[in-house]
Amino acid sequence: MSRTAFPSPDLARNARPYLYGGEEAAIASALRTGQYNHGPITDEFEQRIAAFLGVPDVVAVASGTAALHVGLLAAGVGPGHEVIVPSFTFCATVQAIIATGARPRFVEVNPGTGCVEAAQILAALTPDTRAVMPVLYGGRAVDLTSARPALDEQGVTVVEDAAQAFGSWQGQHRVGTTGVVTCFSFGPIKNLTCGLGGAIVPRTPLEADTCRRLRGLGIVEPATRRAETTTYTVGGFGMRAQMSPLNAAVGLVQLDHFTETETRRRALWRGYATALDGIVGVDLVDPDVDRTVPPMCAVRVLDGRRDRVFHELRNRGIGVGVHYSPNHTQPAFAAWHRPLPVTERLGREIMTLPFHQHLTPTDAEHAANELRRVLVGGGW
Ligand SMILES: *Cc1c(COP(=O)(O)O)cnc(C)c1O
Repeated sequence: MSRTAFPSPDLARNARPYLYGGEEAAIASALRTGQYNHGPITDEFEQRIAAFLGVPDVVAVASGTAALHVGLLAAGVGPGHEVIVPSFTFCATVQAIIATGARPRFVEVNPGTGCVEAAQILAALTPDTRAVMPVLYGGRAVDLTSARPALDEQGVTVVEDAAQAFGSWQGQHRVGTTGVVTCFSFGPIKNLTCGLGGAIVPRTPLEADTCRRLRGLGIVEPATRRAETTTYTVGGFGMRAQMSPLNAAVGLVQLDHFTETETRRRALWRGYATALDGIVGVDLVDPDVDRTVPPMCAVRVLDGRRDRVFHELRNRGIGVGVHYSPNHTQPAFAAWHRPLPVTERLGREIMTLPFHQHLTPTDAEHAANELRRVLVGGGW
């Protein structure tokens, strides 16, 4: 077998959006409506996402980061409060917390899953804790049921960062239907893309209303009815964070094809799992794939070999990545640093393999074979 003739040059890309074909026509038609701030297409997207999940309402916003920010504010998080969050996440999670004026309290994760666990959250509770923000790393659901009584008693809200987990399941329930505030991202490389976008699944009609005001400059009247009145009321703080109908149009097409997305992403992840089986020095991070629509394939490269393996693979045209560098060691978050040895080690070991829908399980096999060659031939 040739070492250079990969079946797909797309192996050089760690992630890449996948379009089903109807997205361009949908945008063109949305452009012709002349409604770019708000319009019926965004309403339809919200209703279709709600119907997909089986929840009464969903609020669409401009990004996953905006969803986290709005979700936290709607839960009453603000200055003086603490939000418990794993350090092992995208920096957007932490920026959303800081944007509310609250402080992040960084906690460890299970290195086998990349996800925080109930016990770690309970141990980090303080009288200032107002919210906890579990991150559904690799799309894997985080079940905090056992912590809920303690959290409820203290008035602590769970606002989950499900940016990577659209379509995943927690037991018998889709993520987004488990009674917490759920925030999704529909950014370019997520399971469903709107180009850019995000959504909040609120717990009550009142919380939905709060989210809509927060995304819409604090204006009380619904966006669709504003044109009919001579004035409007600014009821409180609000951002320009709605989802444009242009983005919603893309998301609607993607949603039509989501069954194919689920099937192909699971098949690609399983292709990697099979191909990596038996390679010594590399451990798969377990996303619980039967219940997950995987947005990535993460491994830990053991024995201090990650950086060399990373560069060797990139030299061979394999688009590996690092998701994520811990946040508690970032300069911007230095004020909230605490020693987190498990996360620090994970940050040195983690590596993501090329993962997107332009790739097939055969491509995964080629990437895994290159990884094996690098490990065996690396001169260690
Ligand atoms: C993508 C992502 C976000 C941010 O979503 P955007 O849509 O890019 O703003 C937040 N948290 C995690 C874990 C993510 O993967």
